[in-house]
Amino acid sequence: MDDLDRLHADIDARVLAIRAGAPDWPCAKGCDTCCRHLADVPSLTAMEWERLRDALAALPERQRERISRAVAALPEAPAGPVVCPLLDGETGACPVYACRPVACRTYGFYVQRDRGLYCRAIEVQAAAGALADTVWGNHDAVDRRLAALGETRPLTAWFRAAPA
Ligand code: SF4
Ligand code: SF4
Repeated sequence: MDDLDRLHADIDARVLAIRAGAPDWPCAKGCDTCCRHLADVPSLTAMEWERLRDALAALPERQRERISRAVAALPEAPAGPVVCPLLDGETGACPVYACRPVACRTYGFYVQRDRGLYCRAIEVQAAAGALADTVWGNHDAVDRRLAALGETRPLTAWFRAAPA
């Protein structure tokens, strides 16, 4: 198990603990709203990209071509919400779910300083006090561990430098 595996395992454990305390947590299979309204293109470290690139390379050709077109269509600095170029728009599924970036794994379950890293649906519940017992993950600690995993670049920059 390497450092990235350990980070994934720790995030999975936090997410599981949160879900166990709130079985009707809004994040569920089929909810792709956050993948369709990203503040920016997901960024990931060199180590994460290596795995993601392998996962992309293993996808069927049609899917790889669709993703290549979606990446090519994204401007360098998109203005406004971004639809993740990896998202399968027909099924609402992430085609590389097992190798998705840490940023995607923590979203919905982590906070950073005084800021919740989650969508409007969770924000509404949190504001109403419904999630008062939640022990949120600490994204500042995650960022410190990510810093040891190599350079960070936007997904599109990694892809353009070394297409899958
Ligand atoms: S963070 Fe919000 S939009 Fe994303 S999966 Fe969870 S409930 Fe859905
Ligand atoms: S990599 Fe996957 S989980 Fe992350 S934003 Fe894109 S489609 Fe969603």
